[in-house]
Amino acid sequence: MASGSYRNGGPKLSAKLDRQHSAVYSTPKASAKSRPPATPATASGLRRSGAGNPASTPAGNKGDAGVPGRVRVAVRLRPRNAEELVADADFADCVELQPELKRLKLRKNNWDSETYEFDEVLTEFASQKRVYEVVAKPVVESVLEGYNGTVMAYGQTGTGKTFTLGMLGEEDSAARGIMVRAMEDILADISADTDSVSVSYLQLYMETVQDLLVPGNDNIAIVEDPKTGDVSLPGATIVEIRDQRSFVELLRLGEAHRFAANTKLNTESSRSHAILMVTYKVHVKRSVKGRHDAEPGLPTENGNASRLVSSLRPPIVRKSKLVVVDLAGSERIDKSGSEGHTLEEAKSINLSLSALGKCINALAENSPHVPFRDSKLTRLLRDSFGGTARTSLVVTIGPSPRHRGETASTIMFGQRAMKVENMVKLKEEFDYKSLCRRLDIEIDKLIAANERQQKDFEDEVERIREEAQSRIAEAERNYMNSLENERSKYQKDYMESIKTLEKKWRMNQQISSNDKTTVEHDQCLEKTCNIEGSTASKSEEIAGVRQLLQNERLLQESTEEEVNDLKGQVLHWKNLEAAASAEIIKLRKLQDNEANQKQKLEEEITILKGQLVQLSIETDETRSRFDRGGSGKIVTGLDSLMSQARHSQIRDSGNGPKASIAKLFEQVGLQKILSLLESEDADIRIHAVKVVANLAAEEANQEKIVEAGGLTSLLMLLKSSEDETVHRVAAGAIANLAMNETNQELIMDQGGISLLSMTAADAEDPQTLRMVAGAVANLCGNDKLQTRLRVEGGIKALLGMVRCGHPDVLAQVARGIANFAKCESRASIQGNKVGKSLLIEDGALPWIVKNANNEAAPIRRHIELALCHLAQHEVNAKDMISEGALWELVRISRDCSREDIRTLARRILTSSPTFQSELRRLRIEY
Ligand code: ADP
Ligand code: MG
Repeated sequence: MASGSYRNGGPKLSAKLDRQHSAVYSTPKASAKSRPPATPATASGLRRSGAGNPASTPAGNKGDAGVPGRVRVAVRLRPRNAEELVADADFADCVELQPELKRLKLRKNNWDSETYEFDEVLTEFASQKRVYEVVAKPVVESVLEGYNGTVMAYGQTGTGKTFTLGMLGEEDSAARGIMVRAMEDILADISADTDSVSVSYLQLYMETVQDLLVPGNDNIAIVEDPKTGDVSLPGATIVEIRDQRSFVELLRLGEAHRFAANTKLNTESSRSHAILMVTYKVHVKRSVKGRHDAEPGLPTENGNASRLVSSLRPPIVRKSKLVVVDLAGSERIDKSGSEGHTLEEAKSINLSLSALGKCINALAENSPHVPFRDSKLTRLLRDSFGGTARTSLVVTIGPSPRHRGETASTIMFGQRAMKVENMVKLKEEFDYKSLCRRLDIEIDKLIAANERQQKDFEDEVERIREEAQSRIAEAERNYMNSLENERSKYQKDYMESIKTLEKKWRMNQQISSNDKTTVEHDQCLEKTCNIEGSTASKSEEIAGVRQLLQNERLLQESTEEEVNDLKGQVLHWKNLEAAASAEIIKLRKLQDNEANQKQKLEEEITILKGQLVQLSIETDETRSRFDRGGSGKIVTGLDSLMSQARHSQIRDSGNGPKASIAKLFEQVGLQKILSLLESEDADIRIHAVKVVANLAAEEANQEKIVEAGGLTSLLMLLKSSEDETVHRVAAGAIANLAMNETNQELIMDQGGISLLSMTAADAEDPQTLRMVAGAVANLCGNDKLQTRLRVEGGIKALLGMVRCGHPDVLAQVARGIANFAKCESRASIQGNKVGKSLLIEDGALPWIVKNANNEAAPIRRHIELALCHLAQHEVNAKDMISEGALWELVRISRDCSREDIRTLARRILTSSPTFQSELRRLRIEY
């Protein structure tokens, strides 16, 4: 085979590569369908594999999986430049490209070559547009869909990395590079009212991250979220982009700053990495019957509950990031002429790049350990290789046979990168902030509706009651009236009948007496014939009386009937009354139910309000962190965590959804909050300690917290909890409480020093160490506690924390030492008998001397003060001389920027006999 063997990164993987090539640059959804499910994740954070539906839940939910997406690699050949056209005129290029086969042949010599396969092979004639379309466009599109993306250029200096990525194309628009074209595509896609695009532009040189947008900002820390593993640069300037013109302007500004910074440091940009970070944020609209619709199993008794449930669904935001990295030149340092650099510098210059190579090797070989933490670049790019981002790499090579070695190593880098498998994941999260706002509105609506209902109900009950009463009264009145009428009528009739009867009876009497007088003389005869006549009239009369009696009886009967009828009516009204009172009882019961329900709702509202506050605190923390980043400042103050909480409180007070911490304090009660510190539920514990920390940040609350046993609970948390967040927040709260003298003694009495030392020994997060160091530093400033502090290991603990090296931590350590030294010198000035400084006894001097000229102003200032305090006491002078502190004092007396310290140092040097004799011995004029 004259053309040499065909190789594709080794026989072991060729099958795998073949399969992957079939889905080159496919979108996540398409590839999700076409790929077999992968095996479970191997190492934490790597997420090289996973299973399940890629779009099932917003990111941040535990257990969410991504879609496999291999790192895509293209190779681009630069045309011969003027120099090569002359110098290499007699030689062939060291590579031969076969773009249609996506292959590249690297010539070993005139008769032998090696063949490599890439995802794309771009010849020296490839246009910038084509390069953008095959290398970057799929990544940009995926970013617009909510996935993170990385585009990166790797290659020897001068092979076209910056040409490929960073050309602004102002003179020739066809020359525009990937950065400019990517932003054009992003801006074309966004809608201005809901979406936003912002950028940071940074340079990484010798393991220092510098802001290319604000040149003074030149030591930006990389922060990792311990929960999600996401890295961020809170100190970097973030600029929101509204149009293409301002973006190009920003790139030009960054380039100018990069040039200036490199001139100042006497470096070339080829040795630094330029990193453009584009953050794209969009609100996702939900479909009516979408996958986020009402969760089953939640109560929906009254319509309100389901409305509440639906409003409980927070809106979703997608926040994806596009990172474009123009790497430092990949050539070996000795070749690029590293004169003027020490070996140390040379190592450090290439540290990030070689660490990147090591990580890619480890990932390509599926090694269980990937040394991401070895350099800043690999920490920053953790998501791009073996992470959740869609990554595209373009390796740039030159044609010259003179650089065959470098070209070969660049090609090998690309080949290995092709084996790196990422798990591409949707970067969606819930927007709790707007949920809070909506919940608050919903709660208020519910309260108002409930109040209205209650009022209507009470009015209705009152109305029914009044109506029933008036009806009963009327019925009673009617009944009485008709009864009275009947009675009087009956009585009248009765009286009249009696009168008639009496009259008749009297008439009868008269008739019978008349009969007696006429009968006297003809008694016997007339007796017989008259008897018959009187008998006839009597029977007539009797019949009349009978008739009367009969009438009487009929009248009585009809009256009785009428009375019965009236009685019936009364009964009917009585029944009506009973029904009305039954209804009243029923309504009362309903009212009780309503009251119960109202009470339940109120309880629910209290709980929701509590949650609201928690959510507000969290969102505020995040926002504050962002705010800090936006201003481009590095916070070096005492307790930024605490002050963030304070600021957010001030900023938000009295504004819409935010219940202030003070309100929570009132509503829930301190005791209840403190009891939550011991909750079984780790999340509740974390929230509770954050709330207590926020409260402790207010001086007005501190006494109440300590009285309620909060200080003891916080100290206990340091021991009982293993969670670093809890440690960090608790230590921050203790640091705040430790600003007060009485509390300082309490902390000591409760074994605070050993608890804080223990926390410091276990801590990895610089912020935790900063809080602990801050607390100890506060204790160091108490004159009464000096000896105890030292005996219990306070100084040793402080010195132990310098291992972390973070400037914020060092500043707190330096402050503690300065406080301690100040107390000692105060004691000696007051004439107390004082021996050699306990700081010197505990071995602090070497660190003090080493950092006396630290470039970070807060560290330097504290140490300069500490040195002056120590030097004021003659008994320390000998040790100070032997440890080299005298030189620092001399320097301070000459160069210190603060005049009072300069003067103090000078006075000490001239007044101390020991220093004087040493200076004379060294023949230094003073
Ligand atoms: P690097 O950033 O890798 O050091 P540059 O992008 O600065 O390399 O390129 C070096 C020189 O080569 C520049 O003058 C650039 O204009 C030129 N160059 C690079 N790639 C190409 C290309 N594909 N076509 C034309 N000129 C190129
Ligand atoms: Mg360059």
